[in-house]
Amino acid sequence: MSTQASSFSRECVTSYIDGQWQPAGAHLLDVVNPATEQVVARLSEADAAETDRAVQAARRAHQQGVWASKPAAEKQAIFRKIAQLTEAHLDELAQLESLNSGLPLRYLRSRQLPRIVRNFSFFADWQSQNVEKAGIQDDQYLRYVLREPAGVAALISPWNAPLALASTKIAAALSFGNCCVLKTAETTPLAVARFMEILTQAGVPPGVVNLINGRGAVTGDALVRHPDVRVVSFTGGTATGRAIAAAAAPGLKRVDLELGGKSANIVTATANLDDALDGALTSIYTNNGQQCFAGSRILLHRSIADEFIRRFVARAQAIRVGDPLDPGTEVGPLSNAAHYARVVSFVALAEQEGGRLLCGGKRPANLPTGYYLEPTAVLMPSNDNRVCQEEIFGPFAAFQVFDDFEDAIRIANASEFGLVSYLWSNDLAQVNRATRAIEAGVVLVNTPMVLDLRFPFGGYKNSGVGREGIEGMRHFYTEEKTVTIALKRPPMERLGAA
Ligand code: NAD
Repeated sequence: MSTQASSFSRECVTSYIDGQWQPAGAHLLDVVNPATEQVVARLSEADAAETDRAVQAARRAHQQGVWASKPAAEKQAIFRKIAQLTEAHLDELAQLESLNSGLPLRYLRSRQLPRIVRNFSFFADWQSQNVEKAGIQDDQYLRYVLREPAGVAALISPWNAPLALASTKIAAALSFGNCCVLKTAETTPLAVARFMEILTQAGVPPGVVNLINGRGAVTGDALVRHPDVRVVSFTGGTATGRAIAAAAAPGLKRVDLELGGKSANIVTATANLDDALDGALTSIYTNNGQQCFAGSRILLHRSIADEFIRRFVARAQAIRVGDPLDPGTEVGPLSNAAHYARVVSFVALAEQEGGRLLCGGKRPANLPTGYYLEPTAVLMPSNDNRVCQEEIFGPFAAFQVFDDFEDAIRIANASEFGLVSYLWSNDLAQVNRATRAIEAGVVLVNTPMVLDLRFPFGGYKNSGVGREGIEGMRHFYTEEKTVTIALKRPPMERLGAA
């Protein structure tokens, strides 16, 4: 099969290399709508040869300096144009994203996709603010740091926030002068593919951003191992992160790994319970429960536990589950059949482990098709239960009860993960104690997640390596070169002199 499409087509999403859609290859994958279980698109999987063509395109663009050597004002204008075009196409992008991810249109339209507009605007501003400093320590030397793009960046992103996460990586890689090859998740290529055209329309030169599609073990692995790739930015599961780090190691490639989580959400006796309730529901059920920073272990002080659970369950049971394209829907289907089966399996496991099902745990009666699960909550006897240790990545909350605040901290930290921790408390001493003692890259007090690129985002322990705030990105995507210029003759040995 060989069809050369001039614009993005759902008939067959192919690679986008050097600003051109490529002919379809031999291996096609189905793209399924998780709400209907119907095939809505096909994807052409890039093999090692096509992956190589994408990397070579990025390498050429990098060597020719078509992006890095542009004046900052020009790059800034392109970033602003990307933000503007994304905003103008938000409805179209949200429809495409929802169609293959099952994410509710309402959430995509109000939260996830507007973030792209903000991110590109942020990086546009950054273009004009980013200056390096020269240093003169004394009158002997002038020293400064040249910060140069790392080169070709491999960007690998997951399916739970396909365009939001992929586009943040693109913005960061470009911001620091790199060219890149993106491999988005094979189950959710649609909005990302359309976004490639927006980048080109905004003036990103051919070869600067290239897209390849396919399964991780095939296309992703070929990309990570490619000798001309210098850095690998990855967001996804912890096991995949390990495989990528191992594949990158022989080439001594720098890796940034944004991985899974099992975040504690601690509700103390002094919390504002209305706020804590909204926060807890938001943290576990938005994005269909598929978010790395989900507050999936909800730890309740015994004095408020009964009331909190009663109110939480009533609200969870009232959440509108259904067609993600319906603007009223709050929770849509899980992403794909295998993931659905895995998430559902934790319901029986929770009961085997001595847990009590509080709500949900089954398919909604009115939704016989699609990977739907009612918002689910269980009360577990021990933090050692697998339900409290493994990332479930669905609308599945595990409650535990604590008596002593130090116990809550101990439970929060008793996890292989350390991405995020939430605390609801109006006791300043508790807040200070928790923010110091909790082992997580992000601690949120009296608020659900708020993302801000000015600050680091990333995990402790098995939640990752590296940080996706502006400083972390700057170090990740650039090489530092220290230049030292003698201002007068420096003290030197005079070997061999008379
Ligand atoms: P995943 O690890 O299965 O896949 C992520 C991406 O990696 C996909 O594009 C996939 O094709 C690719 N991939 C898989 N195997 C590969 C390999 N061997 N080499 C190269 N690429 C490979 O993750 P997922 O299931 O798509 O996403 C869910 C996970 O992502 C969850 O664990 C979630 O917590 C995590 N996540 C983390 C963050 C964060 O910022 N920390 C954000 C979102 C999601």
